[in-house]
Amino acid sequence: MVHQVDVVVLGAGASGLMLAAEAAKRGRSVVVLEKANKVGKKILMSGGGKCNFTNLDVEPSNYLSENPHFVISALTRYTNWDFIAMVCEYGIEYEERKHGQLFTLKGAKEILEMLLTECEKAKYVNIQTHCEVQDVQPKADSGFIIDTNQGTYQCESLVVATGGLSIPTLGGSGFGYELAQQFGHHVYPTRAGLVPFTFSDQFKEVTTRLSGNALDATLINDRHQFTEALLFTHRGLSGPSSLQLSNYWHVGESFKIDFFPSQDLTEFFKEKKKAQPKVLLRTLLSEFTAKSIVLELQQLIWAEQSDTRWCRYQRSIIQNDGKQKTERLIFCRRSTGCDRSFRRI
Ligand SMILES: Cc1cc2nc3c(=O)[nH]c(=O)nc-3n(C[C@H](O)[C@H](O)[C@H](O)COP(=O)(O)OP(=O)(O)OC[C@H]3O[C@@H](n4cnc5c(N)ncnc54)[C@H](O)[C@@H]3O)c2cc1C
Repeated sequence: MVHQVDVVVLGAGASGLMLAAEAAKRGRSVVVLEKANKVGKKILMSGGGKCNFTNLDVEPSNYLSENPHFVISALTRYTNWDFIAMVCEYGIEYEERKHGQLFTLKGAKEILEMLLTECEKAKYVNIQTHCEVQDVQPKADSGFIIDTNQGTYQCESLVVATGGLSIPTLGGSGFGYELAQQFGHHVYPTRAGLVPFTFSDQFKEVTTRLSGNALDATLINDRHQFTEALLFTHRGLSGPSSLQLSNYWHVGESFKIDFFPSQDLTEFFKEKKKAQPKVLLRTLLSEFTAKSIVLELQQLIWAEQSDTRWCRYQRSIIQNDGKQKTERLIFCRRSTGCDRSFRRI
């Protein structure tokens, strides 16, 4: 049997559901074809289950894209305030966290329910789960023919909202990229973003030993730097500073970690030189962060001088960061990769 509709949307994630509702509000008949057993699985996982549904400051510069004009035009037509208005209309309670991030108070489920209600309200949306797309072809005149395990669909407009590669268990797949290629579009190479750094050398042993510890640190490469929480894990480094830098990091590139970004070490050392010249460097630094972290840093950076009194340390341990003439304890590391679980296997 051939089903005739105006719009076929492939994928019932956040994008597919939002689009289906909007298209139906314009009077178009819409069918959403979803391969999984349930819709919106990634929404439910988002923001640790609380969904960071938008931010107070949303600018085109916040988006990484090969085509920045697309984001400018999209944000001109639909802003974060439009979405906040919809959330308020549904009475969904939310809170503001760091950097103006907005999270639901009761859970991501409310955002999914809101999108499904929008689809229901629009009347012309039909959602099919367990639907395997077998073939997509252009129609001779115009439009598309989609063969699935639930029959054939013919439509004027086809929307591919099948998401990216991350977390295959939540529906992540390369289907969208393959379809784009089939229709002659250029596909840029993909790479993991917003992911932890993993290590395979002795530094992995360090992060494993420190696993669970966190501190504020600055992660720096040639182009960007982020000062946020840094979390040690069994596989490497995570936390907001790592996730942010991963967006601007290329495989094999080294980056630096400033473990004491908010301390004016120059002043601190000057003062201590007079007040406590015999103290060990590790004792001094333990004033700022957990002793276990300082001990591991000592092993990595100044192990040979670990029992030298502070005033006799060689200056090379403490780097001078050039222009600002402030002293920083900076550690340079090369990661072997971003977390593989987020990559296509
Ligand atoms: C752990 C985690 C936390 C996150 N937290 C946040 C957050 O707090 N805030 C935020 O804004 N973003 C967050 N994100 C990112 C956000 O979840 C995604 O950017 C967003 O869900 C992408 O939506 P989408 O509709 O494009 O794709 P998806 O949600 O991936 O949806 C795509 C859908 O298409 C289906 N599909 C795939 N292939 C086919 C096919 N061949 N045929 C039919 N259907 C198919 C999939 O099953 C899936 O349901 C988070 C992501 C993760 C992994």
